[in-house]
Amino acid sequence: MAGFAAPLRDMEFVFTELAGLSPILSLLGEDYSAELVSTVLAEAGKIAEDVIAPLNHPGDKQGAKLENGKVRVADGWQPAYDTLVEGNWLGLPFPAEHGGMGLPWLVNAAASELWASASTAFALSTILTQGATHAIISCGSEQQKATYLPKLVSGEWAGTMVLTEAGAGSDLAAVRTKAVKKGDHYLISGQKIFITYGDHEMTPNIIHMVLARTPDAPPGVKGISLFIVPKFLVNEDGSLGARNDVRPVSLEHKLGIHASPTAVMSFGDNEGAIGYLVGEEGRGLEFMFIMMNNARLNVGLQGVALAERAYQQALGYARDRVQGKAIGKSERGPIIDHPDVRRLLFTMKARTEAMRALAYVEAAALDLAEHETTAEKKKQGQLLADFLNPIVKGWCTETGIKVASDGVQVHGGMGFIEETGAAQHYRDVRITAIYEGTTAIQANDLINRKLGRDQGAVAKSVLAEVKAQAVKLKGSSKPELALIGRAMEEAHDVAIKAIDWTLAAGAEDARLPAAASVPLLMLLGTVLGGHQMARAAEIAAARLAESDFYVAKLATAQHYAVHVLPEALALARTVTEGSKTVMSLESALF
Ligand SMILES: Cc1cc2nc3c(=O)[nH]c(=O)nc-3n(C[C@H](O)[C@H](O)[C@H](O)COP(=O)(O)OP(=O)(O)OC[C@H]3O[C@@H](n4cnc5c(N)ncnc54)[C@H](O)[C@@H]3O)c2cc1C
Repeated sequence: MAGFAAPLRDMEFVFTELAGLSPILSLLGEDYSAELVSTVLAEAGKIAEDVIAPLNHPGDKQGAKLENGKVRVADGWQPAYDTLVEGNWLGLPFPAEHGGMGLPWLVNAAASELWASASTAFALSTILTQGATHAIISCGSEQQKATYLPKLVSGEWAGTMVLTEAGAGSDLAAVRTKAVKKGDHYLISGQKIFITYGDHEMTPNIIHMVLARTPDAPPGVKGISLFIVPKFLVNEDGSLGARNDVRPVSLEHKLGIHASPTAVMSFGDNEGAIGYLVGEEGRGLEFMFIMMNNARLNVGLQGVALAERAYQQALGYARDRVQGKAIGKSERGPIIDHPDVRRLLFTMKARTEAMRALAYVEAAALDLAEHETTAEKKKQGQLLADFLNPIVKGWCTETGIKVASDGVQVHGGMGFIEETGAAQHYRDVRITAIYEGTTAIQANDLINRKLGRDQGAVAKSVLAEVKAQAVKLKGSSKPELALIGRAMEEAHDVAIKAIDWTLAAGAEDARLPAAASVPLLMLLGTVLGGHQMARAAEIAAARLAESDFYVAKLATAQHYAVHVLPEALALARTVTEGSKTVMSLESALF
């Protein structure tokens, strides 16, 4: 069983010391206090540990099933979902005026991480509903808000995100699902694939957010619109009406997240599925991005969550498993005493804490974008969140996979056997680097939109803080901090070179920066995560006598500086020197 106490302590530390919880709470008003946040976090941890985590392994074995046209979720899923609805947990980040708790996105990030750590397959049932809710709050009409928000915010109804088709995955411009106007609504027809929680009976209604194309729409992304397609139509008095013309056709057999039903969905097999336009025609992708950015942060958090779970699992095993006599010991003992097992565990821990800190800093930036007092300050928050979004999604998921793989390694042969659970974490985390936009799609976003739109200005202002912190630590009289400062300065310098190369190389050949974009994304994640660890180290170094938490934090930051940060140097070399080889071999010669 995963231990949830350790991540809870680290979450509180990141909240208060790195992500700036208290200024955010001040912006929200006097109803919101640090004590309230602590209570909420502790309760979320209890639900993760007592209610959700016990379902993870049995759910993986049982999976979701499609029987007689109905999706049956795994045993225990329904009561666990009901627990979240009863506690209004899905409404955690939404305004009180819509029935939510009105808490910061930062706190929601921690709850999302806890639930994904307990069971990613289960937690997926919540994040898409939150994404649909967010999209309707941001882009829906007053009538749509009144009809759908009360039930979506509470989680009484679920939401889905319906983009992908057989011919339209990364390339959503190729969406072919049709939407034909008929009076006050549209008739939707077409087949969508890979729809997470596309159908189930956990809620009496499901609100599908569907991308489709109107008949006279221009080709490409400008012709795509967003529609609300309820599974059951909603009467004027809010009661449920007729079943809409949408149904699950089959469920996918997957490598991981077996208990999350991933459905092929058919819209409009008969009279056409009734759908309601969100906003205006042609702005579907723009609106969908509101939902996707939210979901991308949540998927980045799944990478953190499964890394943490894999680490806790491996740590428990390493303390128990006796094998050999460790160097310097007189008797056989637990494998945690072997230097290489310690290296694996420490690197897992260091990567996980760095990822958590960076992801929470993005969530906090979203809070500032929403609640700051001036337009300029809101904009600063949004720009930071926008810049970090592809990095958190791409780097935290790819790194989560590495950590889960190391978790298997710590278990030796038992890691490859299903009963320990280590293999399930590795299988479950693999999808995170694929859905909500593959790592390559995140990297395209990073270089084209996030760096390209301001010639790297936001990136460089963030990196200027990295440099200032590194120089300060380098001059510290404490050798541990000076070491971290030197490593951070070196990593910063190569990151700047890599960004400058990326901005310039496109002029020679637009394919060159694209060929280096994933290494650049991984480089920036490594450096920005390292920066959070360096900030943590400075705080911890001043409080070593207060608690062992700070002793471990300082040591973990040092470990990151020497075991993880050097990867930035290699990645920078790949960025600046590696693109030409990528393009040098004709496709036919591969
Ligand atoms: C379990 C699961 C759940 C999912 N849930 C949902 C859901 O709820 N709703 C939904 O709409 N979709 C969902 N998806 C779909 C998912 O978002 C897509 O699978 C994903 O976006 C990739 O699309 P694709 O599978 O068509 O791969 P492709 O687009 O065919 O990509 C194949 C490879 O080509 C690369 N590639 C493609 N285009 C580019 C490019 N321009 N630049 C660089 N590299 C590129 C990709 O990175 C990848 O490595 C889910 C998928 C799975 C497996």
